[in-house]
Amino acid sequence: MHTDLPSPEDPEEPPSRGRLASLKEFHSAGRGFWGNIPDADWHDWRWQLRHRITTLEQLQRLMPTLTPEEFAGTQLANHRLALAITPYFFNLIDPADENCPIRWQVIPRVEETHTASWEMSDPCGEDSHSPVPGLVHRYPDRVLFLVTDRCAAYCRYCTRSRLVSNATGYDFHPDFAGQIEYIRQHSEVRDVLLSGGDPLLFNDERLEHLLSQLRAIPHVEFLRIGTRIPIFLPQRITPQLCDMLRKYHPLFISIHSNHPRELTTEVRDALARLADAGIPLGNQSVLLRNVNDDPVVMKAHLQKLLLCRVKPYYLYQCDLISGSAHLRSSVRKGLEIMEKLRGHTTGYAVPQYVIDAPDGGGKVPINPDYILSRNADRVVIRNYEGKVFEYPEGPDGTPMTAPPVEIEEALV
Ligand code: SF4
Repeated sequence: MHTDLPSPEDPEEPPSRGRLASLKEFHSAGRGFWGNIPDADWHDWRWQLRHRITTLEQLQRLMPTLTPEEFAGTQLANHRLALAITPYFFNLIDPADENCPIRWQVIPRVEETHTASWEMSDPCGEDSHSPVPGLVHRYPDRVLFLVTDRCAAYCRYCTRSRLVSNATGYDFHPDFAGQIEYIRQHSEVRDVLLSGGDPLLFNDERLEHLLSQLRAIPHVEFLRIGTRIPIFLPQRITPQLCDMLRKYHPLFISIHSNHPRELTTEVRDALARLADAGIPLGNQSVLLRNVNDDPVVMKAHLQKLLLCRVKPYYLYQCDLISGSAHLRSSVRKGLEIMEKLRGHTTGYAVPQYVIDAPDGGGKVPINPDYILSRNADRVVIRNYEGKVFEYPEGPDGTPMTAPPVEIEEALV
């Protein structure tokens, strides 16, 4: 029971909406309803996990503005993808705004039960590329190492909603010994991505046990962790965790942030601790309707990521996950956003837009058309302003050379 939640008769100061005013400013998530909680508890990631909002009753108490769609969606959530929101992340929701971009990401809606024939439970075809429980080997030189089916909070569009939270009864059981042995036996695997669920939910000792075994495999060059913990639970990024992680370089971390409001002062500080530990940071966003499918919002988000020392890495077209149509934006909109980024802001801020091809086809890069034509002696291109240029090139792709000049002529 979440005994620290205030009752409706004991109202706390509601979260200030002023902090959400500017997309480019850093604001604290604040304490909101949890104003009386001691600092030591609030900053303790285990306290945050223990006090997650996981039931309809808690949600109604904290957010009397729940819409009928959210009410019905939350009633059904535990049959599809569980409800869980950390108190910290909950405070980023603007309860007065039905279209709050944070709200749409974590509060279930009844539309999740509307499924179409082209939607899938495993849109990336992971289960069919899994030689060992918990390991996905889909690309030649790298593997996905699933660590857990639990996350600090659950994203309503999750590609792995078939297994995360175990609401569907998938009963995910990774076989760590088998996963590690598979990698040991496959010398072509030089890159291991730990994901889940969220690997940073493990305590430091459990996580280090896995990292040290992987690092001991001579052909594993590169370790990566995919995590949304810095966004949902920045308190987890402790100095002790960073000290442990830095022992396993080269180690990269891909975070998952979708909207500039997620980049609070708490998140910025957590990311700074990771960056100071020498960990290169990238971000993966999902293009989501009502959340970030707007060029102004997207640009502010990407620029703010750079301020947090995070390189925007991928922008994903939302996978065809069952019941996600209300959150999916169009490829046309994604291309329009990319068009308004390239050339209009720092190149480092521009992610690669990709579609993870349905049924395990892998990531396909999607770009606006900058090549207008390829002729026998030139490539015709346009720039971000629409100006047209020609780049000379032979029909077989060889660089064009000037016609030979007589030596005597050249010496004149
Ligand atoms: S954090 Fe990642 S794995 Fe967990 S629910 Fe969100 S998208 Fe899915």
